[in-house]
Amino acid sequence: MTTSAQRHRFVYAFAEGHRDWKDLLGGKGANLAEMTNLGLPVPPGFTITTEACRHYLETGHEPPQLRDELVEHLTALESRMHKRLGQADDPLLVSVRSGAKFSMPGMMETVLNVGLNDESVHGLAEQSGSQRFAFDSYRRLLQMFGKTVLHIEGSHFDDAMADAKRRADVSDDLELDADDLARLVDEYKVIITRHSGQEFPQDPTMQLRMAIHAVFESWNAPRAVSYRRQERIRSELGTAVNVCAMVFGNLGADSGTGVAFTRDPASGARGVYGDYLPNAQGEDVVAGIRNTLPLSEPERTDQRSHGELLTIMATLESHYRDLCDIEFTIERGKLWMLQTRIGKRTAAAAFRIATQLVDEHVIDLDEALTRVTGTHLAQLMFPSFEDSDARERLTTGIAASPGAAVGRVVFSSTQAAHWASNGEDVILVRRETNPDDLDGMMAARGVLTSRGGKTSHAAVVARGMGKTCVCGADELAVDERSGHLTANNGVVINEGDTLSIDGATGEVFVGAVPVTPSPVTRYFAGELDPTEAHDDLVTAVHRLMRHADHRRRLHIRANADTPEDAMRARRMGAEGIGLCRTEHMFLGERRKAIEDVILASVGIDGTADQEAALESLAPLQEADFVALLTAMDGQPVTIRLIDPPLHEFLPDLTELAVHVAVADERGEELTHTRHLLTAVRRLHERNPMLGLRGVRLGLVIPGLFTTQIRAIAEATVQRIMAGGNPRPQIMIPLVGSVQELELAKDQARAVLREISERTGVPLDLPIGTMIELPRAALTAGELADAAEFFSFGTNDLTQTTWGFSRDDVEGSFFSAYLEKGIFGVSPFESIDTEGVGRLVGLAAAEGRSQRPALELGVCGEHGGDPDSIQFFEHAGLDYVSCSPFRVPVARLEAGRAVVRNETVSDDR
Ligand code: PEP
Ligand code: MG
Repeated sequence: MTTSAQRHRFVYAFAEGHRDWKDLLGGKGANLAEMTNLGLPVPPGFTITTEACRHYLETGHEPPQLRDELVEHLTALESRMHKRLGQADDPLLVSVRSGAKFSMPGMMETVLNVGLNDESVHGLAEQSGSQRFAFDSYRRLLQMFGKTVLHIEGSHFDDAMADAKRRADVSDDLELDADDLARLVDEYKVIITRHSGQEFPQDPTMQLRMAIHAVFESWNAPRAVSYRRQERIRSELGTAVNVCAMVFGNLGADSGTGVAFTRDPASGARGVYGDYLPNAQGEDVVAGIRNTLPLSEPERTDQRSHGELLTIMATLESHYRDLCDIEFTIERGKLWMLQTRIGKRTAAAAFRIATQLVDEHVIDLDEALTRVTGTHLAQLMFPSFEDSDARERLTTGIAASPGAAVGRVVFSSTQAAHWASNGEDVILVRRETNPDDLDGMMAARGVLTSRGGKTSHAAVVARGMGKTCVCGADELAVDERSGHLTANNGVVINEGDTLSIDGATGEVFVGAVPVTPSPVTRYFAGELDPTEAHDDLVTAVHRLMRHADHRRRLHIRANADTPEDAMRARRMGAEGIGLCRTEHMFLGERRKAIEDVILASVGIDGTADQEAALESLAPLQEADFVALLTAMDGQPVTIRLIDPPLHEFLPDLTELAVHVAVADERGEELTHTRHLLTAVRRLHERNPMLGLRGVRLGLVIPGLFTTQIRAIAEATVQRIMAGGNPRPQIMIPLVGSVQELELAKDQARAVLREISERTGVPLDLPIGTMIELPRAALTAGELADAAEFFSFGTNDLTQTTWGFSRDDVEGSFFSAYLEKGIFGVSPFESIDTEGVGRLVGLAAAEGRSQRPALELGVCGEHGGDPDSIQFFEHAGLDYVSCSPFRVPVARLEAGRAVVRNETVSDDR
């Protein structure tokens, strides 16, 4: 957006900027410029660009011309304000604030009141008519400068303040008088000299330059770095610095400061919301040192400023065409705007506001789709706790994995597994979890930890499992050994007591809070009629879903193995099944049959009767497929031939070995068990993820695939005879070479031909392959010769591309990798576009160039992930397939992907 001439400047007056120049001026600077140009009352100032920051961080020095530009803009500001920075008798004071392209709330630094020194503090006292105000402003500068610029521990200043209050026998800063504050100023100066080895600089220009450098440096403060990692903000962007003439909200009862939203960011309700703090500076609102008042307060005390504020908010909302949040200050009855930006909002507010703005003719439905996300929608689909005053909140931690879980507290994973096996709902509480806690986490309804952030082990693993988790609840002292936890209000929770944890808000409640199902999920399940406007959230979701369906190009299928799941998926809007994992049909009692088939393949006498086992399976499979094809009648059903991890379908090696060892000891014969042990030993794999699976199993164990194909064919014939419209597709798993595919396909064609000839029903079923190995992706052109469709198995493709097994790594080093920033997000959650995604793109292109009508889909878990869906739209796939519960998210994201491709670019 900038011209090349502009690129060589490092400083822009607010009036020279533009809201679209966020790359250069940061979000705050760009919006200050916009407000200035709208004629709103913004205190004058200028913005130092992100380019200057990048230069400083790369070289350790300002760009050489920055000094001159700074002087030039400062001089202009001084002449506009009719006073000089730090002028002894009437000082111009400035604020120095960070402001990056993407909002990083509270992560970087601010220094206020720059320009005060031992002389100008008296000038300020004179001009303001208040000694108290002048010394309060000076001590604030010393404190912020000391902490931010000179890196002095904040507690030194806090301790001195606490002493001052004790001496004066007061509890509130506001009660300290001018003398108390003047003494505090002296003490702060001593603290600065003692802890930094240098005196507080009295030269105002020196203060300004040091403050600017400190703000540049705060881009790389540890908390900012980890925030960026979590939010996936690129670390090379740098921050801009805004230098702005100070206005004061702490000049007495006719002054104050506040934050406000043009609509309620929690519910989305129309109207103005916010907090106001009389006689205070902005920092006081954020620090929460005094209770804020509602925005109606200035209406009572200063009608003119309040009226002006409302007019400005309306102007901003119609200008930005979205919910805005603002910061303002009233200085002796004069309103000043200090900041605005598009306001953050909850998921429910996002949907409501988007449709309100459509109704108000501010945006169209396409734009409304860009204002909501699949992640928002997913949040709305979890059950939640009933809102009631009776809830007793124990604490609030970090919302790490959504959901509402209620259970009895246990402090060890062994206990969690033990209680859960007795049918108890448990909440596993740990200081932090580690790989040994996996069983306990799996058994628990929810996980609560007192340490660790969103990338901690607990958070990562719980999200992977879809388990509710609140982490980092650091107000809880967890004593795992003696089995209790203590909240900072003294409440003690013992093992066996009940807690309720809310993974969407991070709240923890004492006792069992009633859970309500989500109205949005009930709507998707067909239980609520969206046209009966009992809940405007449901209506908003319905409208945007309809538009997403209208706009999307990608089809959405579901991963489902049972008729119940298939029906549920259909209600949620699925247009077929993208993956039926047939090995899931062989759990429980049927597992033994597969075990027999596999064991018999080793050829050790008497272990199992393969033919009998297959025969017993055939009618069961046929009935399975009839039911599934009935539930999905008229829609494609991709049936993947069996792909079991071998160890899950074999007797346990250790148990057998122990059995035999005991028999040896007792001199018992146990011939069958010994044969079994030999067979299991032969089949035992160190690494089942990379072993005899998928097509490999189908090719070495005769009869396995053909039994399934026969069942598919017979079920199809049955459905056709019954007047149905079955559309099965046969999918071969874990193919790495075209020869494998051709051999499996030959088996399939032979069976289909035979049954078609016998029944007279044409059976021209599509046969395709999964692409879940790098070799398959790299030889996609050849595979496309033999395959009528590809379905990307991005779970295995991620494992095999990275060379790690999900079961092993998610619980061990993933949290460390996320913390170190090696991953922005787990590659199992969101597709690794540079690596795995590249293979997907390559295979899609080569496959299509060989066979233009090749159908392309994805059935790994990424098929339901919002970011990944954006990628699959780009890659030109025909459909994504995901679990039934995520189908609505996929529909919405697929619609958004089309609209966003046409409009938005974002280089986060
Ligand atoms: C895949 O690998 O992405 C896939 C869908 O198969 P599964 O998860 O069953 O291995
Ligand atoms: Mg797979």
